[in-house]
Amino acid sequence: MKQKFLDLLPPLTVAVVLLFWGAAPKAWVDTWWVLMAVILGVLGFVQLMEYFAERHEGWRLNRTEFFTDIFYVAFGLTVIAWASTALAEPWVLAAKKALGITTPWLADLPFLVQAMLAMLLFEFGQYWMHRLMHNNSWFWATHAPHHHLTQLNAMKGYVGNPIELFLISLGVVALFDWDKAAVFAAISVSITVVIFAHANVRANPPIWYSFFFTTIRHHSLHHTAMSYEDTRCNYGNSLILMDRIFGTYKDGESTIVGQGERKRLSIPQQWVFPFQPLIDRMRARRDQASSTINK
Ligand SMILES: [Zn+2]
Ligand SMILES: [Zn+2]
Repeated sequence: MKQKFLDLLPPLTVAVVLLFWGAAPKAWVDTWWVLMAVILGVLGFVQLMEYFAERHEGWRLNRTEFFTDIFYVAFGLTVIAWASTALAEPWVLAAKKALGITTPWLADLPFLVQAMLAMLLFEFGQYWMHRLMHNNSWFWATHAPHHHLTQLNAMKGYVGNPIELFLISLGVVALFDWDKAAVFAAISVSITVVIFAHANVRANPPIWYSFFFTTIRHHSLHHTAMSYEDTRCNYGNSLILMDRIFGTYKDGESTIVGQGERKRLSIPQQWVFPFQPLIDRMRARRDQASSTINK
């Protein structure tokens, strides 16, 4: 496949997603199913591209990786999506009411402007949440399982500890009165960029794209196995622009990703990871108590 075409794949996919929501009939915007279908469609497409235009042989999917990824995509699109909408959104809506925020003019702005604003607002929160996760030990414990990934693939953006996945899904977009299609466009574009930023695809988009949007080059460096310190850059999940603005941008790329000894974590290990020190302490105390009794 022509390299030039491959390099244009991320911007082309983003353009198709935007065109889709720009032209979507109202009925499609009133249901979550179409949004889910768009995300799954992009995921399937990029996953397929990993097969046709592989970036690193060492990141090739095996069965364990594939089924782990599938599990997390299903978990993200059901449980996490539900938790975010049912548990967090009512608080945002209550705050909107209490603060008397009304922005009826917003829905009259052009579709693209709204989609861009919604994405900027959401990404601003994501950037600081992600940065916090790399600056606070408790938050890091929830995010570390995502960094223990030893290879990157299209679905890997969905892989992580459930607490982290919930935290990173939070946003204040619901404070304002958008055209729903623009919000769906912003969500779909963000996810599309995140999918490409984790994908084992030989695409290096041109600077007019990679100046604003996160690419696999930026994000593989964020996942680098060099050291924990070296991961503290390129926090923008889909807008690398945030790093350029807030001074955390670093150029480069990493083929070897992971943490510490580069041990791959299983799903149960990813889930108990933040509680592991507590479990270890309790075990040590129990062992100490039983050895005292045995004496
Ligand atoms: Zn990170
Ligand atoms: Zn990642």
